[in-house]
Amino acid sequence: MMKAEERIKELRELLRYYSDCYYNEDSPVVDDFTYDKLLRELEVLEDENPHLRTPDSPTVKVGGKASEVFSPVTHRVPLMSLEDAFSYEELSAFDERVQNVLGNSYEYAVELKIDGLSVSLEYENGVFVRGATRGDGMIGEDVTANLMEIKEIPKVLPEKIPYLCVRGEVYMKKAVFEELNAMQEILEKKPFANPRNAAAGSLRQKDSKVTAERKLSIFVFNLQLCEGKTFSSHSESLTFLKELGFPVSPYYNLFSNMKDAFSEITRLGDMREELPFDIDGAVVKIDDFASRVKMGETSKFPKWAIAYKYPAEIKETKILDIFIQVGRTGVLTPNAELEPVRLAGTTVRRATLHNYDNIFDKDIRIGDTVRVRKAGDIIPEVIESVPEKRDGTEQVYKMPENCPVCGAPVVRVDGEVAIRCSNVECPAQILRNIVHFASKDAMDIEGLGPQVVNLLLENNLIQKVSDIYTLRAEDIASLERMGQKSAENLISAIEASKKNDLSRLIFALGIRQIGKKAGKILAKNFKSMSAVMDAKLEDFIGIFEIGEISGKSVVDFFSLESNRELVEALQNQGVNMEYQDESVSEIFLGKTFVLTGTLPTLNRNEASKIIEDNGGKVSSSVSQKTDFVLAGEEAGSKLKKAQDLGIAIVTEEEFLAMLS
Ligand code: NAD
Repeated sequence: MMKAEERIKELRELLRYYSDCYYNEDSPVVDDFTYDKLLRELEVLEDENPHLRTPDSPTVKVGGKASEVFSPVTHRVPLMSLEDAFSYEELSAFDERVQNVLGNSYEYAVELKIDGLSVSLEYENGVFVRGATRGDGMIGEDVTANLMEIKEIPKVLPEKIPYLCVRGEVYMKKAVFEELNAMQEILEKKPFANPRNAAAGSLRQKDSKVTAERKLSIFVFNLQLCEGKTFSSHSESLTFLKELGFPVSPYYNLFSNMKDAFSEITRLGDMREELPFDIDGAVVKIDDFASRVKMGETSKFPKWAIAYKYPAEIKETKILDIFIQVGRTGVLTPNAELEPVRLAGTTVRRATLHNYDNIFDKDIRIGDTVRVRKAGDIIPEVIESVPEKRDGTEQVYKMPENCPVCGAPVVRVDGEVAIRCSNVECPAQILRNIVHFASKDAMDIEGLGPQVVNLLLENNLIQKVSDIYTLRAEDIASLERMGQKSAENLISAIEASKKNDLSRLIFALGIRQIGKKAGKILAKNFKSMSAVMDAKLEDFIGIFEIGEISGKSVVDFFSLESNRELVEALQNQGVNMEYQDESVSEIFLGKTFVLTGTLPTLNRNEASKIIEDNGGKVSSSVSQKTDFVLAGEEAGSKLKKAQDLGIAIVTEEEFLAMLS
């Protein structure tokens, strides 16, 4: 079993990555249910291993970080998070904690938990002066100009209160979201995952005109601070906010015990479908302010409130057809075209079936009634079929033999569930292939990254890998965001790559199973590209570190005429096809170094060059994948991290000794 420490580390890294995508990029890669489950697992592990707690753990920190695009706003009252509950038992445990402090005299307000993003709105002398996102709870982003575009936010209050700060949730109505995504599709732009992310993305815009077009809404759910007035309870403060003209969150009711509060939560959950906006739960809050003070708070959330999260929705619908999508890695993914069904905030028309084994193992047929949910991924998935609902018209699906985009045969690599298009020039894969071809470990063409490749493809300057060698500086210079200088630099980098050793070219072709190291081994053994291309399976057997699977992959690759034509085109453009015995040292092959501090004689560039010339890699941050940390004087946090992770630390002297 994985050690707790390792799992904690893994969970923290994963959760930080998910949070970054969710809060900072407004583009989640997993659904909330999955995120919450992982966070829960981390909480349990940290509870069991308190010595492994850290102040920067995702269990302690709130939200995202304020983007530098907006000015920072320090919240006078922090915008805290909420503790989660996923069952009645967890709500009861919360209730018990409340009773321990307050006895039996308390009331709970139960409210909808609207799924949007939290903002603070500040008013001075009754005038709206500033609005900010939550950020990390302490410092948010100034989005006043954008909030000004939300009609429901009162800009001037009927009372000249010296200072007032309220908290609300900016959200997008389901109908607005559907409209927006339909437009994104027409414009061939990436659709938003759900109304919450659409709202967040729309509010965090540099141009407030865009925000205005997105028709956002807001509900206010808390009074943060009000100078010159006192309130004794939450419900009283909400009534006051309503009188001031704020769109206060609808459906809040008071209950004297958790059992009744839970009935209300269930009732609100049942309304979920009909509401014109998304909710992801219900919030239970102690109503009385003095009691709240007695309950206190942690650094992340108040102890007087809890959010009940509704489970991920599962719906039944029908598979109308199964179609294939070819990803950039050439993987053919089967997808179900569904009878439209509303699921967790969006109308779902398609769902992934993951892979072909999944279809056959679960016996999913065209025409089947199936259960779908949004889980793991933002893309909905088909969980299973419901065979009882078959009427005999359903059809068993047949696996495709050819790529639906280019018609090339599909291949299935042993041991993999995926089937792939075997054609390196398949339009569906072209971007990814060119980027790989130009990447540092392959042909090392500086300046030919995904953005530039996309630009070249969009402008029809290239259609396939070999076209990069026909590019002219003047064509590139005329493109948006590309000047004469960068165009010339790119052309020289492309030109220089022609002289690369064969090993780089073999790797650059993107043959499955053939990485950088295998490229070197094949170049050394076969000496020329033509020998690699004409090799039979048996020629690979016995080559050290090249197994039958890799050999078969090379043979399969060159069995396709289009791949042979690509090599020929490259050769015609003057790309080197021969092995150059550079006698490159491989002392550090497969080893990753991190440099830190000042070395006695070598500077950073010199040390990096030595590492790379000897087959190693230099990375900027220490992780479990680091093999050595080369440390000099005044080494900082990287050294500490390396010590914590038990990574080998070497001095310059030891490093140079390794070379000899
Ligand atoms: P939270 O969303 O669980 O709860 C706090 C938020 O609820 C507040 O910020 C507030 O804006 C909102 N809210 C709405 N109605 C409210 C009401 N009536 N009263 C009080 N608050 C109300 O907590 P969080 O810390 O913002 O973030 C955690 C959430 O974000 C989880 O749901 C988690 O799943 C999700 N998340 C998802 C991913 C992902 O990758 N999918 C990543 C990070 C976080």
